[in-house]
Amino acid sequence: MQAIIIGGGIGGLTTALALHAAGIEARVFESAAEVKPLGVGINLQPHAVRELTELGLGEKLAATGIATQEFRYANRFGQTIWNEPRGLAAGYRWPQYSIHRGRLQVLLWEAAVARLGAAAVQPGRRLVDFAQGAAGVTARFADGSEATGDLLIAADGIHSAVRARFFPDEGPPKWNGCLLWRATSRAMPYLTGATMVQAGHRDRKFVCYPIAREPDGHLLVNWIAEQRYPTDTAWAREDWNRPGKAEDILPLFQDWHFDWLDVPWLIRGAQAIYEFPMVDRDPLPWWTQGRVTLLGDAAHPMYPIGSNGASQAILDARWLALQLATQPTVEAALAAYEAARRPATAAVVEANRGDGPDRVMDIVHERAPGGFVHLDDVVSHAELEATVMHYKRVAGFDPETLNARASWSVTD
Ligand SMILES: Cc1cc2nc3c(=O)[nH]c(=O)nc-3n(C[C@H](O)[C@H](O)[C@H](O)COP(=O)(O)OP(=O)(O)OC[C@H]3O[C@@H](n4cnc5c(N)ncnc54)[C@H](O)[C@@H]3O)c2cc1C
Repeated sequence: MQAIIIGGGIGGLTTALALHAAGIEARVFESAAEVKPLGVGINLQPHAVRELTELGLGEKLAATGIATQEFRYANRFGQTIWNEPRGLAAGYRWPQYSIHRGRLQVLLWEAAVARLGAAAVQPGRRLVDFAQGAAGVTARFADGSEATGDLLIAADGIHSAVRARFFPDEGPPKWNGCLLWRATSRAMPYLTGATMVQAGHRDRKFVCYPIAREPDGHLLVNWIAEQRYPTDTAWAREDWNRPGKAEDILPLFQDWHFDWLDVPWLIRGAQAIYEFPMVDRDPLPWWTQGRVTLLGDAAHPMYPIGSNGASQAILDARWLALQLATQPTVEAALAAYEAARRPATAAVVEANRGDGPDRVMDIVHERAPGGFVHLDDVVSHAELEATVMHYKRVAGFDPETLNARASWSVTD
């Protein structure tokens, strides 16, 4: 069997590695002429780290990211709402990693080149069209070249050309009114030195987490500042590398000086700021037509709430590889892939629209917008715990289930 993968992002490259590990030939076609470590940080949750570890990438991840130890929700005054251990410290068998998204992509790209061969991972190949018949699929590229295979997996992101062919009337992604500014700043360690922080509420939020340790003891801290605007505000097409300005952000967070974190100081220290509207798309009624299917953001772009977009793409990749290796036909495998992954990811898209686990901040803000003396007077521990645990179950990373479930690796 020979698979054509469109898109060399986190989803496409993990699919290539997962198919290779399952004994299936694959080639990746990426539109960018060169893959550079662009972008800023993301979090890989333990369910995704498990899959990458089982693909033999555990050591490389450990050397590239920071194993997140703690997660803290706070209000806009820095008062702690919820504090929990993360990754191994939370009892998972796999860590959570806060990691530079571009470096992760390069790590996956290099692993794919090393395992599948350079000829199987091709930059500068933009899919413009495809055709399929009973025997296979032909992909057509902007440079006039073609590739043929038994199936085509479209991991070509939120602006997927294949999704647009499947659903020509869908239109652009949906904006919820939030603008995100994303950047990295050098800072001295705060809290545990590996703490992910979310402060504020759904209309104005500040998120930060270290993604690398520098030789002089500083941390490279990834941060995201969010502000909600009316949804009829003009916005540009989302792009990982659109520049933003500190002057636009500082007035919104000027008095967010906490005992344990100085938000304006971090914003002022930004190396480069990228602006990004918070967008998703509606869950689809189907992903697969014959021998062609969607994966990752092409299938289920979601708001970056709950740190799950890339993690879900990695789960898609591994589940698809297992189905292709074990089902009798390509069509049966794609049906089994979609039957499990489409409802699972639709639930995460919907949960993120409701602010996902970040609901705990909204609950406290609604009831105590000026801060609190005793948190217990505002919200019970049980209500907070139920909110964060519910999200972990929906997204597939509650510790007990994840630790207990069988591997998705293909065994003889
Ligand atoms: C602010 C923000 C924070 C986030 N934080 C997290 C987080 O903490 N944790 C997490 O798990 N996720 C997070 N995400 C989401 C995550 O980054 C995405 O879900 C993930 O990158 C999707 O991977 P993908 O491979 O499906 O798509 P992409 O990364 O978009 O890759 C698609 C690839 O396809 C290529 N391509 C496009 N069109 C074509 C074509 N026609 N032919 C060939 N190639 C093509 C593109 O160049 C690209 O390389 C965040 C997202 C945002 C915006």
